[in-house]
Amino acid sequence: MSAGTDDAIVEISGLHKAFGKLEVLKGIDVRVRRGEVVCIIGPSGSGKSTLLRCVNLLEEPNSGTVLVNGYELTDPDVDIDRARRSIGMVFQGFNLFGHLSVLDNLTVAQRKVLGRDAAESERIARENLEKVGLAEKAKSMPDQLSGGQQQRVAIARALSMQPAVMLFDEPTSALDPELVGDVLGVMRQLADEGMTMLVVTHEMQFAREVADTVLFMDGGVVVEAGPPSKVIGEPSEERTKTFLSRVL
Ligand code: ADP
Ligand code: MG
Repeated sequence: MSAGTDDAIVEISGLHKAFGKLEVLKGIDVRVRRGEVVCIIGPSGSGKSTLLRCVNLLEEPNSGTVLVNGYELTDPDVDIDRARRSIGMVFQGFNLFGHLSVLDNLTVAQRKVLGRDAAESERIARENLEKVGLAEKAKSMPDQLSGGQQQRVAIARALSMQPAVMLFDEPTSALDPELVGDVLGVMRQLADEGMTMLVVTHEMQFAREVADTVLFMDGGVVVEAGPPSKVIGEPSEERTKTFLSRVL
């Protein structure tokens, strides 16, 4: 373990990532403080998902450093399994285990990865189901739930691992419009409770109201960063203005 500076829980410095000749991240620097909510916006293909995947080491950076909760993920000697336990991730697809009940979806990794016993893992699972408003669905199978409910289960599952930071990659993009609000509501509540969150989203209203910091990415760089009132409200960069004029 190496210590982070200040109160940064995620610290990304000089991050580069290419796929073959395609340079996708061209030197990204991001710091996220404990309890901060950072929303990442930007056009399709700008590298937002790749950035999140580098924070979770689902992708290996070509250069630069990624520090999460005191673990330097880019250090070849880091205990990567242990480091990953600091990080919860929720994707666009719900990725629940279809053959397991909701409750078992929430307990399996707690038991297998964290070594919690059945009673403890079930207690924590039920707490988190309660938190996302789905306590009564513990015994349901994923395919009996709506997309919005499945995504809330996916959030509860990630929370059950008690991560230090939660990553969300367009968690509402695959949902029918009427189901988006419940998922955003759960995320808003998490933010209010002080969870550190990195959220890739096209939901500008959510970013405006919930983010402490908004990053606008384009072409593999952070073009503009700051509070939402600034980046969304009064962008100074031409590229940000063009993007916002398309999505707002
Ligand atoms: P965003 O999430 O902002 O839409 P991505 O990070 O998904 O952008 O993708 C950025 C660029 O990297 C795109 O051109 C995409 O095609 C490319 N890319 C992403 N993942 C891979 C991969 N595994 N192999 C090759 N190219 C990839
Ligand atoms: Mg993406």
